[in-house]
Amino acid sequence: MSSSQDKQSKWDSVRRYKLNKMINKLGNISGHGTELVTVYIPPRRPIYDIISQLKNEAGTASNIKSDLTRTHVQDALSRTIEYLKLYKEPPDNGLVIFCGAIPTGKGIGTEKIEIYSVVPPKPIQINLYRCDDHFWIDHLKDMMKDDKVIGILSLDTQEAGLGILTGDRWEVVESLTSGVAGKHRQGGQSARRFERLRDNELNEYYHRVADYAKKIFIDEYDVKGIIVGGPGPTKDGFLKEEYLDYRLQNNVIAVLDSSYSGSEGVREIIDKVNEQGIMADYRLMEEKKIIKNFIGEVYTGKGLGIYGIFEVIDALKNGYADLVLVTDDITFIRLEIKCNKCQHIQEKFIDRNELVYTKQDLISNPCPNCAGQDLESIEQDIIEYLEEISIMVGSRLEVISGKTEEGAQLASLGKIGAILRFKPVK
Ligand SMILES: [Zn+2]
Repeated sequence: MSSSQDKQSKWDSVRRYKLNKMINKLGNISGHGTELVTVYIPPRRPIYDIISQLKNEAGTASNIKSDLTRTHVQDALSRTIEYLKLYKEPPDNGLVIFCGAIPTGKGIGTEKIEIYSVVPPKPIQINLYRCDDHFWIDHLKDMMKDDKVIGILSLDTQEAGLGILTGDRWEVVESLTSGVAGKHRQGGQSARRFERLRDNELNEYYHRVADYAKKIFIDEYDVKGIIVGGPGPTKDGFLKEEYLDYRLQNNVIAVLDSSYSGSEGVREIIDKVNEQGIMADYRLMEEKKIIKNFIGEVYTGKGLGIYGIFEVIDALKNGYADLVLVTDDITFIRLEIKCNKCQHIQEKFIDRNELVYTKQDLISNPCPNCAGQDLESIEQDIIEYLEEISIMVGSRLEVISGKTEEGAQLASLGKIGAILRFKPVK
């Protein structure tokens, strides 16, 4: 569809990483009492409506017997109300808010009110308010399930069906017939002439199928890949002759045999896709492709495939990284030491287990610029840092699962790598 959507989809793996990280963090919090507030706000619910509901809840909360819990609940609610006043209306996909007194580890009564808001990857379908001893993250987890759109094309020489499949929904969008005669000619026609006519008709029909595929799979649904099926060898010939738009031709996820073609064939293929878990494997296949390209670049000797944290960050900052790959279990973090006197910044990329030592070491030494003693340290998730820089310089960033075989290949190269736009002159 639009180019902005194109751009966005490239950030999928990063957004997914950040959201998963936040969900894990929220899921591990347990309140001192029944005092953690969760609110799911669907896209079209008026903000004033939800605010008045929360004001009611605050009124009810005045009956809570425990002083500490009552204060915590009321603080969480008023903080949430203040936050909601920043919105005229909910974002397109709605909004989830988690707010409550988070234990600090220093004992009862030292909890701090914190608020987290999330715009989920797809529209919220429920209205939910909960005050509990934990945050209600399950609905958000459900919304994180993959909802990439996949195109299904089922064809033989007689008919073709085009359908789309997302995480939890599918439909047949179009079906067409070829009008091409069967293989056996009528009496009176010469065999050669019959064959030639039939080939022409088939050729015209395959172009028609390809036109529909472009219209539906690219213009209307912007699919991430297609699955092609049908009885017999027609589908293979169709793919081999490259009738399809190159964007679809290059994104064939699977080719499956089916007994039917047309819309019945689409149904049959979707059953097979579900049985064989093809959708679940799809991100894995994407990652395979990305890693394969990267490893290829590393070993061609052209110098465009690089790895290692310092090399990659250097390339990224200097604007010659096209694509940065990082595994989601990378243990590096960015440590920033800032001088409060002259604002001088020291930046270190270190392994998590060196953090305490390195931080103490840097903070206990004077500022290298002004010799001031007032230094402050900030720790930043390395993937969030890579994202910031990537956006600034216009590079792409892909977060790869560290648990897979592909992830292991990247792990053996330091869990981070990049493909460069060009080889820098040194
Ligand atoms: Zn300084």
